[in-house]
Amino acid sequence: MPRIFAYIVHQAGVADDTATELIAAAKKIDAAASPTAIVTGWGADLDAACATVRASYAEVWKIAHEALAYPNAELIRKALVKVLPAGSLVLVPHEHFGIDLAPGLSIKLNAAFVSDVVAIEGVEGTGLKVVRQEFGGQVSAHVRCDVSSGAVVTIRPGAFKPLESAAVNGTLVDKSADVGVLAAGRRYLETVIAEAGDVDITKYNVLVSIGRGIQEKDNVAIAQELADALGAAVSCSRPVVDAKWLEKSRQVGSSGKTVKPKVYLACGISGSFQHLAGIKGSPFLIAINKNAKAPIFQVADVGIVDDILEFLPELTNKVREMRRVA
Ligand code: FAD
Repeated sequence: MPRIFAYIVHQAGVADDTATELIAAAKKIDAAASPTAIVTGWGADLDAACATVRASYAEVWKIAHEALAYPNAELIRKALVKVLPAGSLVLVPHEHFGIDLAPGLSIKLNAAFVSDVVAIEGVEGTGLKVVRQEFGGQVSAHVRCDVSSGAVVTIRPGAFKPLESAAVNGTLVDKSADVGVLAAGRRYLETVIAEAGDVDITKYNVLVSIGRGIQEKDNVAIAQELADALGAAVSCSRPVVDAKWLEKSRQVGSSGKTVKPKVYLACGISGSFQHLAGIKGSPFLIAINKNAKAPIFQVADVGIVDDILEFLPELTNKVREMRRVA
């Protein structure tokens, strides 16, 4: 098998949860694999991110460059091409930045490319067998990818649960000198932080999240009652915001908020990757959907096939009853 590398996404010195998920994905490719983490950036944030990543990776390659102080996929591609050995298998999180980085990287490395992988079925000769979703998750495509010249594979956040393992205190290898001059056509302008809104959904341990299945604005109250009974907040998918049933600050997903609750109730949500990308920290995911084939059931810990307009009020009553007894 080719050597496996994991590209680490980090912000303000904190490595993204996908950092440990990529190890789990690498182990599915090769149970004996010890992937090498690659962390790019500049200054104290980079050092802090490397320090956290060393707790889970046996080897961490640090690439420090002033031009990498802000994530610019064009520059990072150029840096990676200079340090990666020929034939490498590079795992990249399938989120905003990874989607920008990975396809062009595969072209520059002359390597195979597979995106948005949700499962890895194993290796057969030089063929890596993976599962990816198509048509908004309606179809699971089983793909065989020839990795003999290397590959870049984007891994859907949340699809691989991090493995429980002791901290390793991995070796830090500074590859910065190999990168040389970095210049790009793209220029970083600014980072715009979204406003918090009336309720900060990122602060709640339990989220009752509603999707298009809630059907109309008046029905949002059904979810709010359950949230009140549970001490939770109501969050939502994008169509709920588009329909103006809830404000944008409640939206979970790639173009909304990233949340890290302990329990996530997905009510009438199909499970698009853009929505799931906003759910971090592997919460206990309960999906309620009237379509038994909804893709959300593939990632849920508990799946309930029912009409949310009937199920949620019953659940609220049950929770209130239990609270009274307790
Ligand atoms: P649908 O996909 O329409 O699913 C509704 C579900 O409700 C279905 O599974 C249906 O079976 C079920 N249902 C219907 N009625 C009931 C009922 N009575 N009881 C139970 N179940 C019922 N989406 C996000 O959520 N967040 C984002 O940040 C985001 N960013 C995006 C960025 C881009 C660039 C793009 C292109 C898209 C983005 N999207 C985002 C949209 C995303 O692709 C999906 O369209 C969206 O997540 C679907 O939302 P949904 O699951 O609520 O709706």
